[in-house]
Amino acid sequence: MDLELKGKLAVVTGGSKGIGLGIARAFAREGANVVITARTHEAVEEAARGIAEDYGVTAVPVASDVATASGCQAVIDAAAAAGGADIFVSNAGTGSNETVADAPDEKWTDYWDLHVMAAVRLSRGLADQMDTKGGGAMLMNASICAVQPLWYEPIYNTTKAALLMFGKCLSSEMIKRNIRVNTVNPGLIRTPDWERTARELRGDGWEDYLQEVADEHADIKRFGSVEELADFCVFLCSPRAAYSVGSAYHVDGGMLKTV
Ligand code: NDP
Repeated sequence: MDLELKGKLAVVTGGSKGIGLGIARAFAREGANVVITARTHEAVEEAARGIAEDYGVTAVPVASDVATASGCQAVIDAAAAAGGADIFVSNAGTGSNETVADAPDEKWTDYWDLHVMAAVRLSRGLADQMDTKGGGAMLMNASICAVQPLWYEPIYNTTKAALLMFGKCLSSEMIKRNIRVNTVNPGLIRTPDWERTARELRGDGWEDYLQEVADEHADIKRFGSVEELADFCVFLCSPRAAYSVGSAYHVDGGMLKTV
């Protein structure tokens, strides 16, 4: 299937590794140019170099903190300089670990800025660029935890649920501008970050730890690969998914326990 993405510009935050890098590579494989962002300079530059070399597209690295207004503006400016965004994937994010009783206010606001305000600020700025193209697509990468919380990360659960609602609100507004907005709620996706956590917790038995996590949570009894999620995201952002508007899609190997 031709996803009709050749020559489009996709902006992917958190694109230096893990899911974001996988999504950026999947766009590039379809012939789309990409702007990828992360805070760590060397990592985002290396990732962009790799994408450009492997797929022969333009890959622009932006080193900025999207939890800040100025960091978002840097991304918006870079996308404008690269010809204007057609697609925006709000992906940068990270897990948490706390109790409500112990977590300070600052931790709540930090996660709010990263998981919600980055999406607010970037979608606002990039929508203006999509207007000049006649439309576009946006995808919020929330989490299954937006609807089915894990007990040890209340701040993550709450801010991802807010991102899910933001995506819905944004969709109603943006479709009038021919910009489709959807949300994806991944379950367990095997990223280097999960592997590092498993090694820290279990040393040599880290693979067993990941299997135990999968056995406990996912009906399919395994983690999903970054590529399995990325393919889904890229399709959803492509013109081939033209009637998908304002929805949330679980890509979770059966982890969601409700209908
Ligand atoms: P990783 O930790 O592997 O990658 C996170 C990416 O985001 C990195 O590129 C990181 O680069 C970047 N990033 C983090 N904070 C910021 C910031 N403030 N500004 C700019 N970039 C930032 O995470 P995953 O790939 O596992 O997760 C990606 C998204 O998917 C997250 O939103 C996560 O919540 C969600 N998700 C992940 C699941 C999983 O099982 N892996 C399941 C469900 C949802 P740098 O540190 O250099 O800034």
